Amino acid sequence: MIAPVSSIHDTKGLLETLPTVSMEVPDLLYFAVTNARCAKGEVLIHEGDHVYMGQCIGMRDGGFFKQPIHSSVSGTFDGYEEHYHRSGKKVKFIRIRNDHKDEWDPSLKPRTDEEIAKLTRQDFSKILEENAMVGLGGSSFPTYIKFNNDKKIEVILINAIECEPYITADIRLMEEEIEKTIEGMRYLQIAFECKKVLICIKKKHRSLISTYREFLRRYEGSGIEVCPVGNFYPQGWEIAMIRSALGIDIPTGHLPSEFGIANFNVSTVWGIYEAVKNNHSVIERRISVTGDGIKYPSNFLVRIGTPLKLLLDKCGGYVHPDKDKVFILGGPMMGASLPSDDGIISKTVTSVLVFDAQTSEEGPCIRCGSCVYSCPTHLEPKQIMDAVKAFDKERIKALNPLRCIECGLCSYVCTSHIRVTDYIRRAKMFAKTK
Ligand code: SF4
Ligand code: SF4
Repeated sequence: MIAPVSSIHDTKGLLETLPTVSMEVPDLLYFAVTNARCAKGEVLIHEGDHVYMGQCIGMRDGGFFKQPIHSSVSGTFDGYEEHYHRSGKKVKFIRIRNDHKDEWDPSLKPRTDEEIAKLTRQDFSKILEENAMVGLGGSSFPTYIKFNNDKKIEVILINAIECEPYITADIRLMEEEIEKTIEGMRYLQIAFECKKVLICIKKKHRSLISTYREFLRRYEGSGIEVCPVGNFYPQGWEIAMIRSALGIDIPTGHLPSEFGIANFNVSTVWGIYEAVKNNHSVIERRISVTGDGIKYPSNFLVRIGTPLKLLLDKCGGYVHPDKDKVFILGGPMMGASLPSDDGIISKTVTSVLVFDAQTSEEGPCIRCGSCVYSCPTHLEPKQIMDAVKAFDKERIKALNPLRCIECGLCSYVCTSHIRVTDYIRRAKMFAKTK
């Protein structure tokens, strides 16, 4: 059974216009001890302990970095449960019983504008590390690492492109939190001692572009500007965004920072604002819940740790409760699928997609070449697929599948309904082994 990616009936246009609804905070919330980037984790509290909202309750270990775990509510450590994490794996979660008082950790003191103006790039790095800030566009890459260098940054790009179908969390954030997003960009200017900030928004979002341009009049001379970019997929891929905004091609194996460029997703910028100004980690976020399988697609402001099932109930439940479902956390092209609705909302979940499962027979490859023409990284997906089928490791490596960004286009365009991207993922695993 597969997600019906090839028959996308996108509700994005409708959902972009729906204001975000605050989801009530549940009695029990869950925090993963480990995740896709951190195979180990340590719990720093004991059963029965009282916890504050924003308190560090555990520490994940990603090998070369540590990631604090924060409670998004005040309450009591109530035990452990297993649920699916966004990675698609069942892992151990810390269960916190909410006391519904939302008492902040008293050690978390907001910063004044004067204090923020004096922060160095290293200070920002430390603040973001302590607050476990990660890429909120779905990458989950630890944000502080982007501040851990002394490269001269000439321009900061804000990725407000949200190019995958269905997803609308960033658009709603920009409509509803414009002030915080701009302040977050001003913090980035301080951190990188860089004046030029370009907010990359798809050209088709005319109203959002006008709203930001109008609002930025208050910041005349600040160096922050809107930069309309193309309407295609995957325009949100950082290499495509940089090419569109600056005309620079970043060669494979090089980082944007080597070219004086720093780039951040717009939700991450909002999270940076919360970490720097209010000195706390992300405790809630905007999530779009959509897909043909649920009754009322909606945008929600959700407390981190909320069970997915509660969110789906809030949408009126399933259209066809008797049919098997496909659950995707993230977009239909690059998101991760969950085996059931027993998932938990973490800070890197941008959206929840629910579809009625469809069976789809893969046909034989007809050598149409569509996958090759569509690949934004100029790979040869059909050849890689053949090499994987033949277990030809040398050929796989020679075809360089590690350049694949898993955009999903090769599967989407395949007229024979072959899940080509799955083969490329397998090729990447082969290519990483000796
Ligand atoms: S998923 Fe397919 S189209 Fe996308 S980069 Fe990888 S090989 Fe190319
Ligand atoms: S798009 Fe599908 S049918 Fe066409 S060459 Fe690629 S794998 Fe074969």
